[in-house]
Amino acid sequence: MEFPTAIPALPTSPAGFRSGFVALIGRPNVGKSTLLNQLVGEKVAITSPVAQTTRNRLRAILTTEAAQLVLLDTPGIHKPHHLLGERLVQSARRAIGEVDVVLLLVDGSEPAGRGDGFIVELLQHCRAPVHLALNKNDLVDPARAEELGQSYSELVPGWPLHPVSALNGRGTSELVAALAADLPEGPHLYPPDAVSDQPEQLLLAELIREQVLHNTREEIPHSVAVQIERIVDDGPRTAVLATVLVERSSQKGILIGKGGRMLKEIGSGARQQMQKLIDGPVYLELFVKVVPNWRRNAARLSELGYTGQ
Ligand code: GDP
Ligand code: MG
Repeated sequence: MEFPTAIPALPTSPAGFRSGFVALIGRPNVGKSTLLNQLVGEKVAITSPVAQTTRNRLRAILTTEAAQLVLLDTPGIHKPHHLLGERLVQSARRAIGEVDVVLLLVDGSEPAGRGDGFIVELLQHCRAPVHLALNKNDLVDPARAEELGQSYSELVPGWPLHPVSALNGRGTSELVAALAADLPEGPHLYPPDAVSDQPEQLLLAELIREQVLHNTREEIPHSVAVQIERIVDDGPRTAVLATVLVERSSQKGILIGKGGRMLKEIGSGARQQMQKLIDGPVYLELFVKVVPNWRRNAARLSELGYTGQ
């Protein structure tokens, strides 16, 4: 599989700039997706297969004046205790060992419980500093705040606690500043306006194109391009909306097939590949669009990532 290799120019980072990787850990429903959306906006990334992130899933890039945080999801670590086999623990430990900072997100509207205990146990062996964000602070009655905070500081003595609300954003800039302060000094790793790493979108597009080629054999050889319109991290599920571009309406007919059967086949094959990549459920919606001569249309080509390099 080939990717465009153009690397956008990186800015000169100011003196004292910090950059690095932050593992985001938390059980389901504590608000990880909400927090990522709050921090970087709607367009957070899904998994990245690029070499250095096979164990850690790249989720989002957050750039401030002072730092760039690359937020990673650590697969497997939130699994219930009985599923957490020895090997999974080891691989989670290794993943945690590769980041600069760990952010453990909990539902701070509930007191610390047994479910938190095992993640804490796991993180106690990690070299990177761990920050604990007590989310859903907006639900906390001020009269109970101290008692709740207390239950967490007893659970994890020494870890900085940050009350936040991923929903309304309160406390999140303080959280980001605290995480950034624990990153090593270093230059930008991605362009300042990047919110996700782009090659993964291209890879998803390639998975769809692969299925088109696989299912249609010679009829549609090179006149097809795939454009990923939207990727939405929708709770446990990732929704991908994509358009398949063809040059002629006859090709559109072939791709859709009798009663939509061909497109269904393509979509289901691509979806299965995506689920392996993302390591989670995927909802894929495919459209087919006729764009005459897209191959000769330079603007369209660069939009699709074919930069010719
Ligand atoms: P994830 O499974 O960890 O990614 O959790 P989600 O981000 O999907 O959030 C789970 C639920 O908690 C959703 O209904 C969110 O709206 C809600 N939620 C997340 N953060 C907050 C928060 O700060 N305050 C409140 N009140 N609800 C939140
Ligand atoms: Mg989520």
